[in-house]
Amino acid sequence: MTCKDFSGMIPDFFNDRLDNASLKAFLDHHRTCKGCREELEIQYLVGRAFEQMEAGEEVNLAKDLPDYIEKEEHRLEGRARIFRTAVILEAAAVALAVLTAVIYMM
Ligand SMILES: [Zn+2]
Repeated sequence: MTCKDFSGMIPDFFNDRLDNASLKAFLDHHRTCKGCREELEIQYLVGRAFEQMEAGEEVNLAKDLPDYIEKEEHRLEGRARIFRTAVILEAAAVALAVLTAVIYMM
């Protein structure tokens, strides 16, 4: 992912519209690129923080963004788990269908 890609994905990141692969690439780039971490902070400032202030909520910039990043990372882990479970269930369903067919044929 390039810094330009990252920058273009920031709005979707904050609106939670990135799919698993994009979210992972986004967070990986965020971890390794200082420039983009700063860019994200600025976007966060002008976007979310402003919304929070308008809503009369307390804004803690030093804490809020790292919290949000961490939450997204956990969400990604959670999604990966759900995906794995779905794959296992699907495999089980296929196995059951095959088994049923085999039993039917006997
Ligand atoms: Zn970058």
